[in-house]
Amino acid sequence: MLIYASRPWHNGHIQPTRRYEKSPFVKTARTAQLPLFYTHGIGSLPRPQVVRDLLARRDELPAERYQRTLDDLVLFAIRLQEQAGLDVVSDGEWRRSQYIREFLQRVGGFERCRKFTHQAEIKLTEVVVRRMSATEPVFARDASFLVQHTDRVTKFALPSPFLIAVRYWHADYSRDAYPTLQHFLDHLAEVLAREACALVECGIDIVQIDDPALTYFCDPRLTSGAEIHDERLRRSWDIDKQFPAALAAINRVAEGLRAEVHLHCCHSVYKRRSDVTGDYKPILPRLADAKVDRVNLEFAYPGTGDVSDLKLLPAHLALGMGVVDVRGVCLQTVESIEALAAAGAAIVGPNRMALNPDCGFAPDAGEPPTIDEAYEKLRRLVVAAENCRRRRLGL
Ligand SMILES: [Zn+2]
Repeated sequence: MLIYASRPWHNGHIQPTRRYEKSPFVKTARTAQLPLFYTHGIGSLPRPQVVRDLLARRDELPAERYQRTLDDLVLFAIRLQEQAGLDVVSDGEWRRSQYIREFLQRVGGFERCRKFTHQAEIKLTEVVVRRMSATEPVFARDASFLVQHTDRVTKFALPSPFLIAVRYWHADYSRDAYPTLQHFLDHLAEVLAREACALVECGIDIVQIDDPALTYFCDPRLTSGAEIHDERLRRSWDIDKQFPAALAAINRVAEGLRAEVHLHCCHSVYKRRSDVTGDYKPILPRLADAKVDRVNLEFAYPGTGDVSDLKLLPAHLALGMGVVDVRGVCLQTVESIEALAAAGAAIVGPNRMALNPDCGFAPDAGEPPTIDEAYEKLRRLVVAAENCRRRRLGL
């Protein structure tokens, strides 16, 4: 269906009319105005050194000066995405040193005291040691800033309850706070549901729940109990029991939100490589009960499966297709990005398609790529999406 429409800006002005084809798979009045093959980032942009320096000095600087400087830098992250031509923008997650840790710090109850090995490096990680104590939403100000400083559709990501539960509950440290992992998961779902509601109240259009832990069930090394790279993931994995519990917690966050809700399942990124391997076949059919609108998956990086796996995507779910590799140094051609998108559309139908990079550009502080590399990759994503739309519309 071809329609013409205008979109009110936040300041009351009207954006120039443009022609687009509407997808029934977008949910709210504002997301319904997104074109087919709309483009969105997964969340994080690379954090330049100046951002990392500022985040590291958070406790030294006067709070107002810290906040004002960070606001100015976040404005740059927003403008960069607009300039690249993305239909949906985030705050680049520049207010977070890492996409989960910021949440842990703000809600309280975690201590960095557990030693573990990851990719043969010995590290210290947080574990939950006290009940989470925050009584107010912790991301509301960040979300409001984003909404107030762009006319584009906005997106804000939250870590999933299951991801936090499996990484940060440990029997040796956490039993006093939460007797079992399930108790922790239940409280996380409650806290994150409150966060998600607050984001929507602030005017965020798309809430994304990040759950790379669901993809653990795709990795035969993990599920078979073989020796693996991350000590935190050595446990007895049982997809029949744990997946429904994970999904129930996600649904509790997603259900009833007046926003488009995305679920992002990736293979984790560490030093330009995937932390987890395996295709999505084990988990796609199990998303039949997911009460979200769109699932954002990786298809550009080798080893994440074949596009034909998308035949298993439940019919009620739209797709955010990862068509740009965030890990590799090489830039894909626009034609190859477009071909990947077209292959996905041929299976799930163009109505269900949005296009995105595989994952965020910088899950952790100081990880490559550079901001210029990310910008160029986003530019190519946008041109590829325009080509898909043009081809679809016969323009
Ligand atoms: Zn990701």
